[in-house]
Amino acid sequence: MVLFGDYHTHTKFSHGKGTVEENARTAREMGLKQIAITDHGLGHIAFGLRKCKLPHLAREIKEASEKYGIKIYKGVEANIIGLDGQIDIPLDYMDSFDIILCGFHKFVWPNTVNDFFNFFLPNFFLDLFNIQSSSKRVELNTAAIINNIKRFPVDVLTHINYGLKVDCRRVAKACAEHGTFIEINGKRTSYTDAEMMDMLDTGVKFIINSDAHSPSRVGDVRICLELIKRVNIPRERIVNLEGEPQWRSRRERKKRW
Ligand SMILES: [Zn+2]
Ligand SMILES: [Zn+2]
Repeated sequence: MVLFGDYHTHTKFSHGKGTVEENARTAREMGLKQIAITDHGLGHIAFGLRKCKLPHLAREIKEASEKYGIKIYKGVEANIIGLDGQIDIPLDYMDSFDIILCGFHKFVWPNTVNDFFNFFLPNFFLDLFNIQSSSKRVELNTAAIINNIKRFPVDVLTHINYGLKVDCRRVAKACAEHGTFIEINGKRTSYTDAEMMDMLDTGVKFIINSDAHSPSRVGDVRICLELIKRVNIPRERIVNLEGEPQWRSRRERKKRW
């Protein structure tokens, strides 16, 4: 199986260790044709991408792309910041990115006080003490993610279930309906094989990414490939093996905000 592109990598623009150029260099060495730089969304407390840095990011991407002859997408890994699915990218910045990934992360500014007490805090402690989420909690989380996918042009849902227990089947069904790819993350697997089979049943498409926070990990999708083999995921269900993913057009994206 040949990885065409790695569409989830971080740099010093958030809390990655390397530069755009270093990520691009590894991608080139690994034989990838494309890469995306997807630093953390603007609402991440310590490591979020800063608005004022966006022109620098664009310049570094252009230079690295010319130097290494690979396509580099300017992406972002946005944060979900509320129970209503709110995202931490203001609408007038949505068009600054070629692709939008979205995931749940701790230590982001909640959308409202209610979201702090009823979304972030309970999930934080459940995860910290490894306590099983109640069915009511799973229901709230699932609704939040589905709202997020319905309301915003999210191209990729990153590390589903990580720090936020959801009903994977229902989220995958919503992703299939709204053209969002579910990520098989190269850093961690946060769902069971049974949950993966439930997601497969919905017809959703998957994307495999490294989630590299250092240049040496760009293109490292070994655990994704093991999972694909173990659960027997058909190759045609993975959008970035052998060829380029079919991203939704800009026109299609604009209809969503
Ligand atoms: Zn993430
Ligand atoms: Zn990430």
